[in-house]
Amino acid sequence: MRYISTRGATEPMSFIDAGLGGLAPDGGLMVPESIPDLRHDLDRLSGLSYPELAFEVFSHFITDIPADDLRVLVNRAYSDFRHPETAPSVKVGDAYVLELFHGPTLAFKDMAMQFLAQFFEYALEKRDQVLNILGSTSGDTGSAAIHGVRGKNRINIFMMHPEGRTSPVQALQMTSVLDENVFNLAVDGTFDDCQRIMKTLFADVAFKQQYHLGAVNSVNWVRVMAQIVYYLYSGLQVMKETGEATIQFSVPTGNFGNILAGYYASQMGLPVSRLILATNENDILARFFNTAIYETGQVAHTISPSMDIQVASNFERFLFALLGQDPEKTSEVMNTFASTGRTDLSDWRDHEMMALFRSDKADTEETSRTIRETNDSENYLLDPHTAVGVAVGNRLRNQDPLICLATAHPAKFVDAIVEAIGEEPHHPVLDALQGAETRCEHIGADLEAVRTYVAGKLT
Ligand SMILES: *Cc1c(COP(=O)(O)O)cnc(C)c1O
Repeated sequence: MRYISTRGATEPMSFIDAGLGGLAPDGGLMVPESIPDLRHDLDRLSGLSYPELAFEVFSHFITDIPADDLRVLVNRAYSDFRHPETAPSVKVGDAYVLELFHGPTLAFKDMAMQFLAQFFEYALEKRDQVLNILGSTSGDTGSAAIHGVRGKNRINIFMMHPEGRTSPVQALQMTSVLDENVFNLAVDGTFDDCQRIMKTLFADVAFKQQYHLGAVNSVNWVRVMAQIVYYLYSGLQVMKETGEATIQFSVPTGNFGNILAGYYASQMGLPVSRLILATNENDILARFFNTAIYETGQVAHTISPSMDIQVASNFERFLFALLGQDPEKTSEVMNTFASTGRTDLSDWRDHEMMALFRSDKADTEETSRTIRETNDSENYLLDPHTAVGVAVGNRLRNQDPLICLATAHPAKFVDAIVEAIGEEPHHPVLDALQGAETRCEHIGADLEAVRTYVAGKLT
């Protein structure tokens, strides 16, 4: 399998190169040249454990890692999950909740990040390279990345977070990791300050090359690929359990990474009748799927912060497929969007790809009410992101079994839960963090200070 850029100006490359590279050199995203067809294999796949299924799915996308090696990487990636099924589907009322929060940081980003880190260590060894990850986080992504790469050979991670502006639990999940290759930087500033410092350092090509800097952003193909597995795993399981021939998913969405994997799963042959894209007040994608106009707005801060985005970084992969895999059209649309903040795709509004999706938003009031009502009637506590998906999913579902993706454990979002039900949520892993030893460098919101720190640790 070879990988091509959505902008068409990059030579096709292997999986390892696409995975190590991140963004394509021409500014596009790497996508597989073709989508594997599993239609006739679904029966057999439905009997597999999560790691076995992951191995089967990955084998179609990865042709430059020997099978025995790949199996080891997959088994290691999912060995730290706290549930024997890795990602169980739990019946809650008349829907299923697909729990994606049994990994080390209790959020769905572990599902992909745990494998990405195994892949990095392996690929760097093969290529005799090192990687120094520089990132900035407002919470979930940073801690999933740190827990993925902690203790890995050939990798260091420098993660900036705005001091005092992530939740105390999220900060602790990062700073309590004491491995030698993990460097937490608490920046005296905002998340935007962290982002600006990171972008400026990445733009300094000489610095970036000298120190082998890289990122673990959500557009990395390996992350999207790893997420395809749980759609198949849950979908096949629920079909078996209910005897139904088609299923639908509701996905709380920010950067379009998670639901994009659901789209690929459907293209690979999973019989998905509907993909429900749920947003909070940051509804650029909900507006797109209802109007075919993609137009950015102001970022609103909500109780589901991991979905507070206005530009969905993975959307370009969907667009590329929608536009018939035409890199010229894709470049044109993306360039228009980049320069004007708006692009009109009305001509594609009736395309069959659009018909697979339904979309709406849930505001803070509805999200909070959904948490409360589900807790009261089903004795099941939803986190605020999952609650957005449950609220919108119930509104837009058809008669097929509905699977709502649970993207985080509620105990990660104490304030929103207390607000909704008047009680504090708990998880033993988070409780154990209280009073844990931490390591963290406090640093000004100053580019030169960060540059000097990174260079100092790497020489
Ligand atoms: C990242 C995240 C999301 C959004 O996922 P996307 O892939 O960006 O659409 C939703 N919920 C939680 C808890 C997250 O961490």
